[in-house]
Amino acid sequence: MYAIILLARFAYVKKINIAIDGYAACGKSTTAKKVAQELNYLYIDSGAMYRAFTLYLLENNIDYQNQQLLSQIIPHIQISFARNPQTGNYEVTLNDKFVEHQIRSLAVSEKVSKVSTIKEVRAFLVKQQQQLGWQKGVVMDGRDIGTVVFPDAELKVFMDAEFDVRVERRKQELEAQGIYLEKAAIESHLYERDLLDTTRSESPLRKAEDARLLDTTHLAIEEQVQQVLDWAHELIYCLE
Ligand code: C5P
Repeated sequence: MYAIILLARFAYVKKINIAIDGYAACGKSTTAKKVAQELNYLYIDSGAMYRAFTLYLLENNIDYQNQQLLSQIIPHIQISFARNPQTGNYEVTLNDKFVEHQIRSLAVSEKVSKVSTIKEVRAFLVKQQQQLGWQKGVVMDGRDIGTVVFPDAELKVFMDAEFDVRVERRKQELEAQGIYLEKAAIESHLYERDLLDTTRSESPLRKAEDARLLDTTHLAIEEQVQQVLDWAHELIYCLE
């Protein structure tokens, strides 16, 4: 009892930002979401923002390579997060409309990594992501969170998994949504996205030097979550 009182006296709880980056289909979003729930933090899916932007371009027939047009439309695009009363989840909005379902379509998935190579698009979305994190207490997942969005994040995690495992996970994820694709199609899609994400000149996907590597090849979701929580707790409950 005395020890607990002593510990409570010398320990303090600190709010941190957690940046989770990695390749497609490593379980980043599922892990980040659960970690945020456990810590009572805000979860931000930065990929959903790139997807919402891509959806806007597709719906309005805008070529992502037309830089002049992009600069004109950016002030008219509002991407945010809000609680969807229908699902009870905190979801991405595009100009005040919930678009969680639409941004997961194949059309958006096929285009999003190309749109994400554009400097103006990244600058626009990174600014908003940084604003969401300034008060701390955020778990954000993406491709450049630890390197560009929150270079000062207290905890940075870089997730990876063997390619075959990621393909299988993506297959199951798609089938859960009723989308059935050949394994070869999923392989080439993942391969192409990873290639675009790692080789683009603007904020390519890479492990921040101070990020902790989490190889999820042989881990269940609960194990991934627990590992990130263990790292977070070390930083949150600091001993004076
Ligand atoms: O996370 P998700 O797979 O939904 O992200 C979709 C795409 O958005 C990624 O493949 C990547 O091209 C892009 N993206 C990005 N930077 C981020 C998050 C996502 O370039 N921070």
